[in-house]
Amino acid sequence: MFYYSTRNSNKKVSFAEAALSGLAPDGGLFVPQEIPEYRDQVRSSLGSMDFRDIAYETIKPYVDGEIGESALSDIIHSAFTFDALYVAVLDRFAVELFHGPTAAFKDFGARFMARAFSFMRRGEDAPLHILVATSGDTGGAVADGFFNVQGINVTVLYPKGRVTPLQEKQIAGLGKNIKAIQVEGSFDDCQRLVKAALADEGLKKRMALSSANSINISRLIPQAVYYSAAAGRAFSGRTDKDGDATPRLAGFTPARESRAGFPITLCVPSGNFGNLTAGLYAMKMGAPIKQFIAATNINKTVPDYLDSGNYLARNSQATISNAMDVGAPSNFERMSAHFSWEQMRKVILGVCVTDEETRETIVRVHKSAGYFLDPHSAVGWKGVDKLAAEKKIEEGPVGILCTAHPAKFSEVTRPLTGSPPVPASLERAMDRTVNAKTIPADVSALIETLLEID
Ligand SMILES: *Cc1c(COP(=O)(O)O)cnc(C)c1O
Repeated sequence: MFYYSTRNSNKKVSFAEAALSGLAPDGGLFVPQEIPEYRDQVRSSLGSMDFRDIAYETIKPYVDGEIGESALSDIIHSAFTFDALYVAVLDRFAVELFHGPTAAFKDFGARFMARAFSFMRRGEDAPLHILVATSGDTGGAVADGFFNVQGINVTVLYPKGRVTPLQEKQIAGLGKNIKAIQVEGSFDDCQRLVKAALADEGLKKRMALSSANSINISRLIPQAVYYSAAAGRAFSGRTDKDGDATPRLAGFTPARESRAGFPITLCVPSGNFGNLTAGLYAMKMGAPIKQFIAATNINKTVPDYLDSGNYLARNSQATISNAMDVGAPSNFERMSAHFSWEQMRKVILGVCVTDEETRETIVRVHKSAGYFLDPHSAVGWKGVDKLAAEKKIEEGPVGILCTAHPAKFSEVTRPLTGSPPVPASLERAMDRTVNAKTIPADVSALIETLLEID
């Protein structure tokens, strides 16, 4: 499979080149030359296949000729040590994407990317240095994904005093090949520093550098897997048992069966739109998906675009679902490389949800279903309520991608519902000691620190 930049369809690169360079040299995003289709036999057995087998069938065509069959299988089994669960909650289904080590869906992409990078760098003597800037969630998933991965060192930059205590422990509590730097500045400063360091000729001579931000194609492709898994379950009328970290009160066990034979409607709480783009890939590959709902908080650039056909990027506004506070979604360029406005409108319904509605939803679903939603998943839940009231949702099962565990955002959820149950992985993270360097928001300070810790 070849990849090309959204800004130049003539220059084709391999999966390894697209993944290791992250952003195309012309500033565009890498997209696959085509979206492959599942074999009929795979498509018809998605509902009963193991998650790792679905992952193998989904990812294989995208890395064909570069990652061999047994290496791919090893990468998948090491990355996906947990499942995406499809459980019933009231009249709909939760697609629980928070059973990984940092309790958010970014674990799927980050863990696959880390192992794929390590494989593609095999045989290189010098380690690869990954730089990543985070406002909170991405840094933890990337740090955890690369922890102890051979031949790769990671440095995470985060804005001092602007991430939660738990996030800071996830970023700066691991040690070994994961270094953390807190920057006296904002997330934008962190991003600016990373970009400048990646472009610094002197530094590039001293170390092999790469980045791991959310536009990396190797994070996107593995996210298609859980869409196919959920759609397969839904189409065959199956649901999963609650997992260890399913945030449901005892005594609220719902009926586990659902009506088979219908493609699912999936609601995706969205910020940078990487997750939804991966869903569009799964649909094109042949997963039984009827339509998508793109639910945002008040940062509603994409719902407005779906309405009007005009794309108007803007500054982001702070909300309680802060991983989705994005006014200029970076993956929009990728979505529009594959689909026109008319095509998007046929399969995506946009909806926007306020903080007040988000809080009300967390309380209501806790009361009626004994189920704890995190603020991002609650945006998805409320988005479905709103569109259902307008009779815009077609017949068939409706699933909501629950993108984070409620305990990860307990600052928001605890005052509304009391403390949700805490997954073991988050308890372990809380025990870690933070070890981070502090630097001013200055590129030379960053470069000096990178050379020191090398
Ligand atoms: C990153 C994130 C999102 C947004 O996902 P995008 O792919 O950027 O649209 C939603 N919820 C949570 C919890 C996240 O961490």
